[in-house]
Amino acid sequence: MIKILANDGIDPIGKALLEQAGFVVDTETVPQDKLVEALQNYDAITVRSATQLRKETIDQCPNIKLIGRGGVGMDNIDVDYARSKGVSVVNTPAASSLSVAELVFAHLFTGVRFLQDSNRKMPVEGATKFNGLKKAYAKGVELRGKTIGIIGFGRIGRETATVALGLGMNVLAYDLHPFEGNLTLNLQGGIKVDIPIKTVSLDEVISNSDFFSLHTPFSDKPILGAEEFAKMKNGVGVVNCSRGGTIDEKALIAALDSGKLSFAGLDVFDNEPTPLAEILQHPKISLTPHIGAATNEAQERIGTELANLIIDHFTK
Ligand code: NAD
Repeated sequence: MIKILANDGIDPIGKALLEQAGFVVDTETVPQDKLVEALQNYDAITVRSATQLRKETIDQCPNIKLIGRGGVGMDNIDVDYARSKGVSVVNTPAASSLSVAELVFAHLFTGVRFLQDSNRKMPVEGATKFNGLKKAYAKGVELRGKTIGIIGFGRIGRETATVALGLGMNVLAYDLHPFEGNLTLNLQGGIKVDIPIKTVSLDEVISNSDFFSLHTPFSDKPILGAEEFAKMKNGVGVVNCSRGGTIDEKALIAALDSGKLSFAGLDVFDNEPTPLAEILQHPKISLTPHIGAATNEAQERIGTELANLIIDHFTK
């Protein structure tokens, strides 16, 4: 009987699929320092981002044949080392793309109507300074007809583009690896509309977009910093639901303070889980605590995909 430790939890649908296939699934979280001991009783482990599976753990648990990551990033797993030892490492990269893309628009709609500030001030001043606040938030803008610049045109970048196209926005996209093809809008009544998209240069995206959304991994330095902000149109908005470090946060604060940028929406931060106070308290920044993939639908898709990958591995 195959035993699986879902150490960072697994959606009930995924657990049920595994159990129906005859697997035993334990969802009790074992602390990191007790993991090696506990894993002696299992054939596979699934994690999200919390549990670390480093070289030493992999070496001490030769019975573990599969590591499953529910989600995308595998920074918490020594993937190459595990694979070199014959351990299969699988993840579910596409399951949360739409959830992240929709969060981008939550930040964009927030920014263009000042909701990040209004939600902070209304509870305090709404009954005494209603008309003052009304005036302060009077110059909102619409998204339709505006151009969104998407940097990083992989799974989430393309999903973001599809939502933007559905809203009637124009899309300018850049990726290290050029893309030319159709994005498909799935509309009411089963209607599908293919829209051709071709990536352009980063400079073209930077100079011509009204809003920006970042969808790259972090490499060695920020993708947006003072130099890029200087080249943007005045009053643009920037959203980051990718990874901390991809925007230079000091340069971002300076660009917001000078009015070059009108707002930012951030789901990811340098120094998570202790972001800079200047970022957290900035009136022009809409904030979420790295919840891009945190929807019921995404967790169900992650659980289902992970369960099927595990079943395939042990039964085929
Ligand atoms: P993906 O691999 O499908 O796409 C990333 C794209 O970025 C690739 O096409 C790649 O060529 C491109 N790229 C890499 N470096 C680049 C650069 N310097 N300039 C331009 N393009 C570059 O990944 P994805 O699934 O779309 O995820 C994108 C990001 O979102 C990742 O960093 C991922 O960790 C993050 N993410 C965040 C959340 C969240 O909760 N906020 C959830 C899931 C994923």
